[in-house]
Amino acid sequence: MTREQIAEAVRKLGRQITEDYQGKDLTMVCILKGASVFFTDLIREVDLPLSIGFMAVSSYGSGTSSTGVVRIIKDLDQNIEDKHVLIVEDIVDSGKTLHFLLQVLSQRHPASIHVAALLDKPARRVVDLKTRYSCFDIPDAFVVGYGLDFDEKYRNLPDIGVLHPRIYQNA
Ligand code: 5GP
Repeated sequence: MTREQIAEAVRKLGRQITEDYQGKDLTMVCILKGASVFFTDLIREVDLPLSIGFMAVSSYGSGTSSTGVVRIIKDLDQNIEDKHVLIVEDIVDSGKTLHFLLQVLSQRHPASIHVAALLDKPARRVVDLKTRYSCFDIPDAFVVGYGLDFDEKYRNLPDIGVLHPRIYQNA
């Protein structure tokens, strides 16, 4: 995906969220670090009063497939009771991370809770997970850029591209 395609999709998603959350007390939650670039672009396309929050969960480390073990590394610092929560995630792969996050945050009694993902790899799903919003469905390939890393690198690339297997096979 080029930066132009991403910007267009983010604008469109921002408009949709603006429509859907009119008159609602919205809290958008960024899942660090992967969603950081997407999140900062997306919140500026949402024309509503809203709050933001940040969470970090354990990810793949330096590998390219999920361990299935999810752990909170940084929690929200605000109460989400009675708020309309929108979790903003970089990519849904197996779905385990979001499944876990939805479970944990639902227990805090939000008024509603949904997911906005930049990318979705439906072919890789192992848990039943519905994302209300996503910008792009992609095939089963490891991608980097626009916040997405491999071994903490490439997050600053403005476009999203498939990482050549040569890079992680040698890791
Ligand atoms: P899941 O729990 O859905 O299997 O994994 C979600 C997390 O895995 C994402 O938040 C992301 O951090 C990481 N991930 C999954 N696929 C990719 C990918 O293609 N590229 C990168 N950089 N990270 C990925």
